[in-house]
Parts: sequence; structure tokens; C-alpha cells
Amino acid sequence: MGGDEFVVVFRDVKSYEEITLGAARIIEILNVHIVIDQYPLQTTGSVGVSLFPRDGSTMVELLKHADTAMYQAKDRGRNNVQMFSQVMNRKLKARVAVEASLREALRLKQLDVYYQPFINLQTRKIVGLEALIRWNHPVHGMIPADQFIPIAEETGLIVLMGNFVLRRALQNMSAWRKAGVPLVPMSLNVAPAQLQRGELQSTIATLLKSHGFRPELLQLEMTERGMFESHAPAAENRQDTMARLRDLGIKIAIDDFGTGYSSLSYLKHWRVDSLKIDRSFVRDLVTDSSDLAIVSAIIAIARHLRIQVIAEGIEAYQQVEILRRLGCTVGQGFLFARPMPAGQCLELLGANAETKIADDEDMLAVFSAGRG
Ligand code: C2E
Ligand code: MG
Ligand code: MG
Repeated sequence: MGGDEFVVVFRDVKSYEEITLGAARIIEILNVHIVIDQYPLQTTGSVGVSLFPRDGSTMVELLKHADTAMYQAKDRGRNNVQMFSQVMNRKLKARVAVEASLREALRLKQLDVYYQPFINLQTRKIVGLEALIRWNHPVHGMIPADQFIPIAEETGLIVLMGNFVLRRALQNMSAWRKAGVPLVPMSLNVAPAQLQRGELQSTIATLLKSHGFRPELLQLEMTERGMFESHAPAAENRQDTMARLRDLGIKIAIDDFGTGYSSLSYLKHWRVDSLKIDRSFVRDLVTDSSDLAIVSAIIAIARHLRIQVIAEGIEAYQQVEILRRLGCTVGQGFLFARPMPAGQCLELLGANAETKIADDEDMLAVFSAGRG
């Protein structure tokens, strides 16, 4: 059909089983190692099936539906067989609709960046900011990232969005610097697709130079899944980009730590600067002793490796107390401040520079500007 896509027609099929067995045999044969120049290579296959006349009466329709099912197979981790279903079709249509409006959002400049501070749990000062993308939708208002980032990732739009966030964050930092407030490091979320192309490094280097910022002022957050959970060469490609970014002097943080493979060896190997303990562990820290044990172990390991630990999603004082006791120095969460627009962030940074905070009550007073 073009590229790496093929069509196989099964005639006179008597049962579903015949189809799935037939498709499974194709995948099995594709999986056999091929040796080229002494290197064993392995191919995988993803099969999508449509049935005549159930799924369509024309060739065009049948091919389209087989294609939909094949993408589903790819989404489910490749090397599997999927039958077309109308549910799939509806999901695809919904996705296409969101993708179209996301493209509109980019074009019509409906995207914005909010900032959420990292707080030093000892000194209670702001020690960093995380940039979080927002969609200012004309009808639905401010839409948080978790509602559209997955679709942006699937469709590749995330690359354009990532560049937008990067530009906007540095512009805002420039403005804050001009306004005379001391800057704190800026943390940006990076999607796997942004590392894949290898352009991120030059984009960042150019932007840093044009604004006159030190690379240490930037930190990139990546999830373990994004970094490590795919096959070579894709994973190697990403890790190369990451190593080059690291060489530029940019800091690397692992986001949502504890939810992926959490392989400990890479922490050292990749010279990770920070670990962000996933919100799910922090949430039940006070009541769940296994979460307490996990968090405590992460903090201990990180300390030995001289990696900074940032606790995500702090919503209660008891959590701060426990984290502090365990030796975690930095936290982020609604207790301190919600993500806020750039203007509000400027005020907060101003207050951060001036105030010396004595106790917990005062701390809330400082951050009340950012709550709501
Ligand atoms: P993340 O990087 O782990 O960001 C933290 C998310 O948790 C944010 O949601 C933030 O608003 C929320 N959060 C912070 N503190 C608390 C708390 O105390 N309680 C609760 N319940 N939630 C809290 P948001 O902005 O919706 O972002 C969701 C995810 O979308 C992010 O998770 C990140 O993975 C992704 N994302 C956001 N902005 C970008 C971006 O510019 N690029 C990329 N590639 N991904 C982004
Ligand atoms: Mg993050
Ligand atoms: Mg996170």
C-alpha cells in the first residue's frame, strides 16, 4: 500500500478464529530474526482487520477501516492484531475533531503558559518554576494540560506546542528580569517526540543566547516512560539528545518518578539532577505506610546519588511535615500555589525576594497571591 504497509486478503473466511490465527501467523513470521552483516534484526508487525460486508461494502471503506484498526494495534504496543469496530471509529472521529481544534488553537494563539512554583520546604522560598501549558478556549475557558496533551502527543502537535512553551517561558523570564525581580530556574516538560528529532538542542541553545540566559537556568522534565520505555533506535535517539542537552549545561529532571520502570542505574548514568516524586505517592503519605516507605526510600537513594528530590502535588501540611522529616527539601503543590499566569508570577517573585518568613502562617500569606 505504500511505505511499510501491506494488504492481505483472506477469501471464504468461515470464522473469526481463522482470521486471528492467520494474522498471528503473519506477525510470527515477521518476528523471525534476520541477520544482516552479522547483526540480528527483528521486525514487528501490527495488523488491522476489516470484514466484508460487516465493516464496509466498498474497497475504499474496507481499507479505511482496516487502517483505523491497524493504528489501534500500533497504539497497543505493536505486534498485535485488532479487529475494526464502530467504537474505534467513533474514538477516531473524536480524536480527529480535537486535533483540528488544537491546530486552530495554535494558529489563533489560544495557548498560554502558566507557572507553578517549587518551594524550599526549609526556607519556604521559591526555588523554581514549572511551565505548564494551558488552552484558553473561546467556549470552555482555561483547559488544563492533562486534557489535551495526550492527543497532542499522539498527533505530533506536541512538537509545535513544546516550542511555543519554550519561547513563551523565556520571553516571560526576560520580562521578569527587566522588571527587576531575581529569577529562579525554569522547569519545562518535554515530550518524547521533542527529543526524537534532535532539533530541541539547537532551538534551546539559540533561545538562551538571544535572551542572554545561562543554561543552568533551564531544567527539562521527562518521564521515565518517555525516556526509556521504547525500543532502540528510538530510545537511543532520545537519550542522545538528552546527553547533548546535558552537555549544554541544562538540568534534567525525571517527572512522575515511581510510576514507570524506575530503574535506578540510569539515574547515575544519565546524570539526572532532580527526581520529582509522583503525586500519587505524596497523596497518601500520611495514611498509607507503603507510600511512606517508597517515598522514604526514593529520598534516601537520591541523597546518596546527590540528586535533588522534588515532591509533587503537596496539598496538606501533614505531608510537608513528613517530607521534611524524611529529608526532602523541595516541594510543589496546591498548598503553596496553583499554576498561575505570568503577571501573577511576577508579583510572587517580587515578594519572594523581599520577604523573610518566620512561621507557617506567614508562609501562606506570601503564597495567597497565587492561590485560588
Ligand atoms: P506534570 O508535569 O506532572 O505537572 C503537574 C500537574 O499536576 C499539573 O497539571 C499541575 O497543575 C498539577 N498539580 C500541581 N500541584 C498539584 C496538587 O497539589 N494537586 C493536584 N491535584 N494537582 C496538582 P496540568 O497542568 O494539567 O499538567 C498535566 C500534565 O501535562 C503535566 O504533568 C505534564 O506531564 C503535561 N504538560 C503540561 N504542560 C506541558 C508542556 O508544556 N509540554 C508537555 N510536553 N507536557 C506538558
Ligand atoms: Mg512536570
Ligand atoms: Mg509530574
